[in-house]
Amino acid sequence: MCGIVAYLGEKQAYPILINGLRRLEYRGYDSAGVALLADDQLTIYKCQGKVSDLEAHINGRSTVANLGIGHTRWATHGPPNDVNAHPHQGTSGDLALIHNGIIENYAPIKEELVHRGHVFKSDTDTEVLVHLIDDIQRSEGVDLAEAVRLALANVVGAYAIVVIDRKNPDVMVAARKSSPLVIGLGEGEFFCASDATPIVEHTKNVVYMEDGEIAVLDRRQGLKIRNIKNQVKTPFIQELELHLEALEKGGYDHFMLKEIHEQSRSIRDSMRGRLNLAKGEVVLGGIKDYEQKFVNAKRILIVGCGTSWHAGMVGEYLFEEFARIPVEVEYASEFRYRNPVVNEDDIVIAISQSGETADTLAAIELAKGRGATIIGICNVVGSSIARVTHAGSYTHAGPEIGVASTKAFTAQVTVLTLMALMIGQKKGTLIGGNFHRLLNELDAIPDKVQKVLKTEAQIKYIADIYKDAPNALYLGRGYTFPVALEGALKLKEISYIHAEGYPAAEMKHGPIALIDDSMPVFVIATKGASYEKVVSNIQEVKARKGRIIAIVTEGDTVVKDLADHVIEIPETADPLVPLLSVVPLQLISYHIAVMRGCNVDQPRNLAKSVTVE
Ligand code: GLU
Repeated sequence: MCGIVAYLGEKQAYPILINGLRRLEYRGYDSAGVALLADDQLTIYKCQGKVSDLEAHINGRSTVANLGIGHTRWATHGPPNDVNAHPHQGTSGDLALIHNGIIENYAPIKEELVHRGHVFKSDTDTEVLVHLIDDIQRSEGVDLAEAVRLALANVVGAYAIVVIDRKNPDVMVAARKSSPLVIGLGEGEFFCASDATPIVEHTKNVVYMEDGEIAVLDRRQGLKIRNIKNQVKTPFIQELELHLEALEKGGYDHFMLKEIHEQSRSIRDSMRGRLNLAKGEVVLGGIKDYEQKFVNAKRILIVGCGTSWHAGMVGEYLFEEFARIPVEVEYASEFRYRNPVVNEDDIVIAISQSGETADTLAAIELAKGRGATIIGICNVVGSSIARVTHAGSYTHAGPEIGVASTKAFTAQVTVLTLMALMIGQKKGTLIGGNFHRLLNELDAIPDKVQKVLKTEAQIKYIADIYKDAPNALYLGRGYTFPVALEGALKLKEISYIHAEGYPAAEMKHGPIALIDDSMPVFVIATKGASYEKVVSNIQEVKARKGRIIAIVTEGDTVVKDLADHVIEIPETADPLVPLLSVVPLQLISYHIAVMRGCNVDQPRNLAKSVTVE
């Protein structure tokens, strides 16, 4: 959460910053701001609202500068308003700082600084840090980089920061701990950003900063990195594989809609080079060396948050069925704050689209400390989770920019399916014929997703009927129970309709009391192990006059007679139904949100890449 971007070079900084902030806006949109340094003058423009509000605010004013920093905020400390917007400054007015993260011990530091005569303007934790750097710079007579290092040695919490100094227009200083930061190296120019998206059109050469590192970007001396202990570090320059078109809407009204429609391709990309039908095998190169560990594992723990947690639940069913390994799925935030039992022969699978989710990272550290083997499933290449895990598999879904996750979910489920198939075969728990049948079915999923997407016009019609419902219920059984949870989450997060996902059979233990003729009930009633049971659950809803929208297998006539609406999806094996059945639910949420006038790509109060705990 919070996007930061910075530029130092020969070009005009402002357009680069604004463009970068637009790319990073998925990380927060409570306020935005820039600081520009030219002719020994530091100019700060900032205001509550989105990047477009900042542009309107700046319109017509001078922006000439070839050094600048920019920020888009997801508020943690202090309400979203103009004063709390970043960049922040210290007492001297010479420094400007942007920050992503939380300074946990800001209160005692602030008290001390107030005692020393500093006056604070905002409610943020961030302002404390810039005052501290300012104070150290003046009292110790050190340069900016050293002042940053000394200040950070006193700080507890998470940060990615960039600081500039009015007195030194040739330098910017960046640092990170538990919040992401990428440096871009161009021809005589430097970029810093929370992710590579603001950088990709300028340079492909990047350095992903490590925790505890402080980078000095100097016009004359280039890039130098030290750590908090003042040891020199050698920057590892990597080439970006990101493409610009992946960051644009490509003719769609919203990123979310584009990403829903990309799923046929993104699922194919998740399987590319991994699923080999001709040889009848699954090879996940990233975890090949850990195959035996999986086979010997007494237990698998899956940790994640939000949509990734739902994907993890599908993973639980898959691993238990294919590999006969007991699985527990945990909210990373709960897991890390208990005293969980984790053993050396446990495998922990950590799932995160961004690879930066703070709670998931903390859960990994905890499990690692207890000797477990940690396997990551992330989308963002080079992300923190990808680096701290023992091994892992990228989902290769391409950048996901819509705040409500769609293609990341199906890509995570695809990778989990591949993993469970690979381990099941290796372990001998998935017998030949079944294994090959599943491989063929999985290979056919991208084309079937394409078919599901063709139901969009019908889904729009249904969305129009239920767009004003105050509540909705989502039911599924077995493999589709996590899909019901995911469907309800999608509706909540982008259309602000209260929705609950339930195992269909649990309905009679409570939620059935809510059903009346105004309650839409979305039921995944595809052919498979629990079909008859789900049909009975539909009857129960019907008997109470609930409105049924059912996702059914092509050609189903039984549910058609009972439901108010049916959406048909192609037939597939039970364990693969989540990959198809989630798609209509994503589309329903999308169209309801659009019809309700909600900001689909930037839902209120939410942001992506949850780097706060
Ligand atoms: N804690 C800072 C603030 O509230 C930054 C928030 C964040 O990175 O999410 O302004």
